[in-house]
Amino acid sequence: MTYQHQYSDGTSIDLPLGKVVCVGRNYAEHARELNNPVPSEPLLFIKPATSVVPLAEGFRLPTGRGAVHYETEIALLIGAPLSGTVSPADAAGAIAGIGLALDLTLRELQDQLKAKGHPWERAKAFDAACPLSHFVRLEQAPALNAMPLQLTINGELRQQGTSADMITPIIALLQHIAGVFTLLPGDVVITGTPAGVGVLNPGDELELSIPGVLQQVTRVRD
Ligand code: ZN
Repeated sequence: MTYQHQYSDGTSIDLPLGKVVCVGRNYAEHARELNNPVPSEPLLFIKPATSVVPLAEGFRLPTGRGAVHYETEIALLIGAPLSGTVSPADAAGAIAGIGLALDLTLRELQDQLKAKGHPWERAKAFDAACPLSHFVRLEQAPALNAMPLQLTINGELRQQGTSADMITPIIALLQHIAGVFTLLPGDVVITGTPAGVGVLNPGDELELSIPGVLQQVTRVRD
């Protein structure tokens, strides 16, 4: 179950697994479905490397801590350092791959933490909170500003979105993050979820895809 960065053609990627930088509420429709205000600048948080597991192998949910929600997100594998002020070209050049991630969230716990003004890590950074797919190279992926993504659960379409609807688009997001924390080769950025989030249950069969480019089937283990 050890995670290692890999391309979808089976080529391994010689980068260590670093941190996962996440952005909340990057699609307005998703912010609204949870009754959250749309932020005026990207809402950032981090999942540690210990939260990453290989999506393809399935994953277990934490037990006894309330409902776990899925959030399907486009993942960017960082292949070059990004720090401080970076140009759009440098931001694009640092993307070593495009993949898909689940930002698993203990939603009831997150609501409690939000109400108290506490950090979200207890709800977002637990072990296996970030199942992560393999990657495709940038040149094989659709345009960064028009990338579709979708999730079906047990054959039913649950999330369908496009990066065109991101409040902060991918390149601007990388530029913003680099000004806040240094991104290193092997780090991953997950870019927010479109609307349609909901509860996962043991036994659920999930198919995440960037249609026509990347498809990943997985299941919630019992
Ligand atoms: Zn998320």
